[in-house]
Parts: sequence; C-alpha cells; structure tokens
Amino acid sequence: MSQAVLSPEEAETFRARCRAFLDEHATGMNLGGDPDPRGSRRLDHGKVFQQALTDAGLAGLTYPVEYGGQGLTKEHERIWREEYGNYPNMTFELTISHGMCLPMLAEYGTHEQKSMYLADNIAARTVWCQMFSEPGAGSDVASLQTKAERDGDTWIINGQKVWTTLAHVSDYGVIIARTDPSVAKHAGISMFIVPMDAPGVEVRPIHQIDGGKHFNEIFFTDVEIPAENLLGDLNNGWNMATAMLMYERVAIGSGSVGGVRHERADQLIEQATKLGKVSDPVLRDRLMQLYILETTASLVSMRTRAELQAGKTPGPGGSLGKLISTNNMNFARDLSLELIGPASVAWEDESGGSWARGALTGLQGGIAGGTNEIQRNIIGDRVLGLPRDIDASKGVPFNELRVGTQRDER
Ligand SMILES: Cc1cc2nc3c(=O)[nH]c(=O)nc-3n(C[C@H](O)[C@H](O)[C@H](O)COP(=O)(O)OP(=O)(O)OC[C@H]3O[C@@H](n4cnc5c(N)ncnc54)[C@H](O)[C@@H]3O)c2cc1C
Repeated sequence: MSQAVLSPEEAETFRARCRAFLDEHATGMNLGGDPDPRGSRRLDHGKVFQQALTDAGLAGLTYPVEYGGQGLTKEHERIWREEYGNYPNMTFELTISHGMCLPMLAEYGTHEQKSMYLADNIAARTVWCQMFSEPGAGSDVASLQTKAERDGDTWIINGQKVWTTLAHVSDYGVIIARTDPSVAKHAGISMFIVPMDAPGVEVRPIHQIDGGKHFNEIFFTDVEIPAENLLGDLNNGWNMATAMLMYERVAIGSGSVGGVRHERADQLIEQATKLGKVSDPVLRDRLMQLYILETTASLVSMRTRAELQAGKTPGPGGSLGKLISTNNMNFARDLSLELIGPASVAWEDESGGSWARGALTGLQGGIAGGTNEIQRNIIGDRVLGLPRDIDASKGVPFNELRVGTQRDER
C-alpha cells in the first residue's frame, strides 16, 4: 500500500469523486415511520449503500486490492471520512462489521482467511457481529466460560453469549472462548470465526425498554467449526480481544466519519427555534455548551484518527473519545428532556416517539463497548499512570476461580 502524500490537485480530485458519490447515494434512510426495532431495515439501506460504494471503487480504501480493498493511502481515507461527515450516515449498522471485525481480520487473519472473508465483508455482502460478553463476564470479560475444545480437525464450542448486537442478521461472528482452563484467566482464551448458521447456534432476541430488539442472547450447543477458523494464535485471544475493544472504542467514540460535527446541538437549536424558545438566555447558554462539547469531541476523534493514520493500533486514548462521546450524549439527552418537555416521553407525538426513544437509547452509550467506569479505569491506569486495581485472580488457574457461574457448580 502506497503511503505517498497526495498532491493538492490529486487530493481535490479524489475529494470531488467522494462528494459526487455521496451526493447521489448518501440521501438518508426513508423508514416510512417504522421504528425498525431489529435494525434490519437500516442494515438493508447500509448494504445497498456499501454495494454502490464497492461498484464505484471506493469501498475498503486502505485494504489491499487482492482482498477486495482499493489499496489506497490513509490520506484517501481521511478525505473520505471528512466528506462523509457532511452527509447522513448510511452505514451506522455496519459499525461492528467494518469498525471492529474487518480490522481484526485484516490484522490477524491468515492469507487464506483474508482471501475468504475480507472482500465480502468490505462490500457488506456478509455482516459480522462480536461475541464477547456473557452473563457472568461483561466488564471482566476475561472470566468468560464459553469453551472451545479441540476434536481432530474441528473445534467444538459450548456456552452462552449475551448482548450480541445484530447477531440475528449476521452471517459470521468473532467469538472469544476458553481453550485452556488450567492456566490464569487471561492466558487460556482464543479467538475464532463462527458462521452464524452453524448447527447448534441459537440466537434469541432481547427486548429493550425502547421497543427495540437490537441485540440477542446466543446459545452454543456442540457447535462444530473447522480448525482453520482459529483467528490469530492459540491462547492469544486476550491480547486480540483487547485490540478489538480498542477498535470498538474508536468506532463508537470517534464514529465512522471525520471532521468537526455538532449534530445534537444543531438538532436541538432547530427544535428550540421551532418552539420559539431560542431567545431564552439560560437555554442558549446550555445549547452553546453542547455545541462546544461536541466540537471538542470531534477534535479528540480527529487526533485519534490521525494516530491511526500514522500506523498506530488504537491505544487506551480511544477510551477518552468514547467517554467524552457518552458524556455528551447524556448532556444532550437531559437538555432535550428540558426543551421538549412532556412530549419528550410521548410515544405517539409528531416525531413518532423519536425523542422518547432517543432519551432511552442514550443510556446504552455508557455501557456498550465497556462502561464509563471501565473507560475511567483504563484512562487512570494506562494514560495517567495511576496505580492499577488489585487483581486477586492474578496467576490463579481459571478453573480454581469463583467467577461467572462457576461458583454455582460447587
Ligand atoms: C447497546 C449495547 C450493545 C452491546 N453490544 C455488544 C456486542 O455486540 N457484543 C458483546 O460482546 N457485548 C455487547 N454489549 C455488552 C457490553 O459490552 C457489556 O454490557 C458491558 O461490557 C458491561 O458488562 P455487564 O453488562 O456484564 O456489566 P457489569 O460488568 O456486570 O457491570 C455492572 C456495573 O459495575 C461496574 N463495574 C464493573 N467492574 C468495575 C470495575 N472494575 N471498576 C468500576 N466499576 C466496575 C460497571 O461499570 C457497571 O456499572 C452491548 C451492550 C449494550 C448496552
């Protein structure tokens, strides 16, 4: 992949090409008032957009041509993100597939795995999900109990995952499972690729408070996958899971688009104007605060993206972007509840319940991808260099720990 810096003319030509594509295809999603509880209609819009992007030679810009990418530079990627930031986000439901699973496959996959999976993932002909969390292993995901046991040329998976976003519409999932329970909990985990239609995989929806069913429980009963579905090295799954979580925090906190954005402030300013409240000095002050917070968050995202462009794997700084974006979401939610008043909790108002839904779904941000407390721990330990939490499980074999549901088995 060439890293040559583009000349101003080349950059401008590429920018114009992106803009022409976006003018035609990034036209928003018309859901016809359907709240789309399972996210499948939004995903369909994303797939159509991504196929058009592939046909236009603009999908997977920095991934190698032999694996279905365009083999272009990080500068092309930056320009694309800057332009996409000015249009409606058409690929929101591909965040996990493209922002987390794709970079992991590209970084850790063998040549055979990349040849088999990358091009279809890039074009969204296949969709991928992330299967990490379990009922007894969320923040402390290294306590996971789902196991993969080797049997000849296959791995047999048994266990349960939970909160798996879009598992019901995914073709593949990246899973972490325990491959050696006799060593310390972080040391005996491996990562695998699982076809979601494999016999023994059962996906059950979880019903959310906002009416959505966007994530799922997954049960694995003697699920057989070929030995070559191991991703990365055996028992190196914890390091890989950490790398994937960093990609996740960048994907959630810094988004798939670039540039300075203040969408929530813009939306609330428009609403305040409509309601004739925009001259209220206290409200103006709060709206301005939101505008500044969102602008600052964009700048932090741009710095993280610049680090990625410089070839760095996202580090703990990704936690900062995620924490800021969650705090901004909470600020915007409180402000919207004040501004809209009782209508903000109504399901059947002229917005089709979108304010109420927004207020409820906003709470997810501080949990998904690691809770705010966990992001603060990471920033404390690894950015600020503060002393780490005491880890009583250090060096103790996993099968001697009382974690997850293991305590119930005794
Ligand atoms: C919208 C959404 C989508 C999700 N999608 C996926 C997905 O696609 N795939 C997937 O694998 N998972 C997914 N998750 C799960 C998510 O990663 C977990 O919910 C999250 O990591 C927290 O784990 P938990 O729910 O088990 O809570 P717990 O870990 O049980 O935490 C409970 C509370 O204790 C606090 N806490 C725990 N440990 C500490 C500590 N050491 N220091 C301070 N406080 C602590 C937490 O902050 C939290 O407030 C999703 C979650 C949400 C909300």
